[in-house]
Amino acid sequence: MSITIMRRIKFCAGHRLHRHGGKCEFFHGHNYVADFYVTGDVVDDVGRVIDFADLKRLFKGWLDEHWDHGFVLNESDENGLAAVKIVEPCKYYVLPYNPTAENMAAYLLREVCPQLLAGTGVTATKVVLWESEESFAEASLTQSSGSSDTCGFASAGESR
Ligand SMILES: [Zn+2]
Repeated sequence: MSITIMRRIKFCAGHRLHRHGGKCEFFHGHNYVADFYVTGDVVDDVGRVIDFADLKRLFKGWLDEHWDHGFVLNESDENGLAAVKIVEPCKYYVLPYNPTAENMAAYLLREVCPQLLAGTGVTATKVVLWESEESFAEASLTQSSGSSDTCGFASAGESR
């Protein structure tokens, strides 16, 4: 049996969608909500797969350091990166693709969570990233026999 728990972390960040062609190409920001789903096979003698406080420290710590109150931009967006770099002080984070809710959720699940949870005995199996109260993207690991994890998406809403 496996048990999954979820810890929600809120943060604010700016972004824009490179070559979007519409209003999402302007600099703007969101009040994001990230739901981290963490799965373990055993509980400790207290009855936890992992302490919620540990998840808060790890996930909120990473988001506070890297994304909160910063700009998340596409590495191909040279003009946008040049703009944020002239502001003092500046805080920005470069992704290898557009900072859509889909890509940000996948990045958290694939790149960030494995580092943060190494050695804890639990793994992140799903990240749901809310970009607004009406829109989210979900990245999840789906186990397929004999092969490595693949990343799938589900998304809802229209906000970008
Ligand atoms: Zn947006």
